[in-house]
Amino acid sequence: MSVSRRNPGELQIDLFCRGVRIDPSCTLQDDARVIARTRAGLGSGLELVVPGPLKDLWLNAPVEEDFAAESPYALRKVGAGYVVHDARNDEVYAVRLPPEPKWYRERTARGTAMKEIGVLQGTYLGIYVSNSCMFWYRDDPENCKFCTTGFNVGVNEVAQKNIDDVVETALRAKEESGVTFVHFNTGDQNGQGLRQIAPYVKAVKERVGALVGVQAVPPAVDRDLWQYDALRDLGADHFSFCYEFHDPKFFAELLPGKERTVGQGAFFRALEYCQSRMPKGACSGEIIAGVEPLSATYAAIDYITGLGAFPTVCIFRPVVGSDMEHYPSPSYDDMVPVMRHMYERCRARGIPIGVAPNIEVSLIVNPDDAQYLVPRTLGFKLDRLLLKAMKILAKPKFAYELRPRPVRGSLGIWDEKPALARIAERKSSVAV
Ligand code: SF4
Repeated sequence: MSVSRRNPGELQIDLFCRGVRIDPSCTLQDDARVIARTRAGLGSGLELVVPGPLKDLWLNAPVEEDFAAESPYALRKVGAGYVVHDARNDEVYAVRLPPEPKWYRERTARGTAMKEIGVLQGTYLGIYVSNSCMFWYRDDPENCKFCTTGFNVGVNEVAQKNIDDVVETALRAKEESGVTFVHFNTGDQNGQGLRQIAPYVKAVKERVGALVGVQAVPPAVDRDLWQYDALRDLGADHFSFCYEFHDPKFFAELLPGKERTVGQGAFFRALEYCQSRMPKGACSGEIIAGVEPLSATYAAIDYITGLGAFPTVCIFRPVVGSDMEHYPSPSYDDMVPVMRHMYERCRARGIPIGVAPNIEVSLIVNPDDAQYLVPRTLGFKLDRLLLKAMKILAKPKFAYELRPRPVRGSLGIWDEKPALARIAERKSSVAV
């Protein structure tokens, strides 16, 4: 069957699914960001930008996995620029390689390499704040099966991040790379993940000025959900909940640590708790498409958007070294309708997409990227005008958020709250 020319959104998805071969003409060491295997999950590839008339699309293209070696796509250098060539139909697509930021080669005042503190993933700064995820450190590891973090953090990254190092790195990333969003992640920290992230949120808000996102394994019990309110008081703007698989059987089997410690329900309760207190789109549910049945992926998108949250949908990547490295990469024909559905559900629920300034996540198909997958109807055009107007109206708010400012919250609440909860429990047992 002949393959038609892809539009930018289709090309992004096809590259996620098939990967890209690197032609000998490429000089990536001079022109590209280093291939950073420094984070959890599915980012092990080459950062690319596919330019397009509606928006440019960022992606972290698979290059190291076996399936990428079989890809019909090859990256070639032509003059000073780069193209992707599709061997199936001889189509050629201009792409851009975002250069490595200068600060990747620099050190903080304490002598720490900045790229061991945080890395750009698309246009945001991702920081893994502390010792690697505890799911890896058991006699019988309980890591998520798609993940390789246990091999990376502490080897390619500093295991315990110093707050001054983080502030300095985030300031440089903001000044030189235009970063507006700093995302903190911990993996499992024996129930202490949110507490561990808290001082970093406060420091970035007060000393850098950026939108701040937080991702950690949620509390096992609902009485600990107050930590999200405390983090908001410290400046957190966004919470993401990486529950990965909607089908409980896939969740249990592929995420054994999450299943044993908190269970899938904890992710749902935390997402519902946070999104019900925050503006539409301030929280996200993270899922991986291409492993569980598609009906579960559609159900996940409906559930997440039904709450008013943002679906972040990763296309599964069988990362080299992970337990799932021999799983097949998902099919393009399956992933296009999934991403189209994601866009349509976001818009049907009035979830603002593409409104925050300069946040392009290269590990996923951003909901706004999927605008290339829907027909250009009058309704579509009117909706895009509405989103444009929202973006303009939101500018002053974001300008305010990007200024360093004192926060009202206190880190001490983590010591006070458990004591208060114990007093309340004692009082209620006396009353009984
Ligand atoms: S929680 Fe899972 S995906 Fe996250 S770092 Fe730990 S093992 Fe990896």
